[in-house]
Amino acid sequence: MRWNLQVFATIILFFTAHSSFSQKLQDRNLIKNLVFLSSDELKGRESGTPENLRARDYIKEQFIGMGLETQYPDFFQEFRFTSRRENTTITGFNVVGFVPGTESKKIIVITAHFDHVGIGRPTAAGDSIYNGADDNASGTAALIEMARYFSQNPPKHSMIFAALDAEEKGLQGAKALVEDFPFELDQILLNINMDMISRNEAGELYVSGTHYYPEYRALLEEVSEGKKPTLKFGHDTPGTGREDWTRSSDHGAFFDKKIPHLYFGVEDHEDYHQPSDEYSQVNPRFFVDASHLILACIEKIDQDFIIP
Ligand SMILES: [Zn+2]
Repeated sequence: MRWNLQVFATIILFFTAHSSFSQKLQDRNLIKNLVFLSSDELKGRESGTPENLRARDYIKEQFIGMGLETQYPDFFQEFRFTSRRENTTITGFNVVGFVPGTESKKIIVITAHFDHVGIGRPTAAGDSIYNGADDNASGTAALIEMARYFSQNPPKHSMIFAALDAEEKGLQGAKALVEDFPFELDQILLNINMDMISRNEAGELYVSGTHYYPEYRALLEEVSEGKKPTLKFGHDTPGTGREDWTRSSDHGAFFDKKIPHLYFGVEDHEDYHQPSDEYSQVNPRFFVDASHLILACIEKIDQDFIIP
């Protein structure tokens, strides 16, 4: 019996090791990043709070560990903005890493906001921490792991990995990035933004933006064919109000500068902007699968859209 258990344990270990070798993104890193960023310790990562700075520093340490380059001092793009609600000036920090491309001067800018809304009105059970696990520890966790992958597997286009601050206060970090970008804006091939990629009961992930940039649609269909989650197109039709996500997250700042974007995210759920948006409500399988799928889309775009 004991022997059988040992064999069983060895087999489990083998498959765990085997799958991690064959995977481009390490599932355990994806989950580790998501668990830390959405923990109560970080108190909802509101811009201007010490806990937001802890999230910022965690991302920076990861970037340093992978040997990423950057155009900013200490990886931080510092910016100031006025919060209308609090009527104060807040200092925000984007964390920006860079991987040089091997074949093109064009740049793919990958973004995810790491801030959330912080501490707020408590629930009946007394929970006042808005953890923002799906929104947007999930996108940030994927962004960090994608940066690690591309730092070890150089892309054809240069890539900027920007963990953006103050999205929840009006896309402030994204606006700061496009206002003070380290290269000419017309060098950007496109922005790929991730915001809420860790759960959906129907198993669906949306990619919004192909209404404006249909040149990417066939490629996305090809890459996502037969894969989980199911990649759905839409939420980008003008005149559809809240159903149009074109300015719903950081990619909106790129759109306003006429820079193409693709935005990956799920439809709103009952925990959206609630203290219950925490890790326990995330679907780890969905999140890991979505991260792998988005990476596959990025790699295919990197290979197929070569403009010297
Ligand atoms: Zn968000």
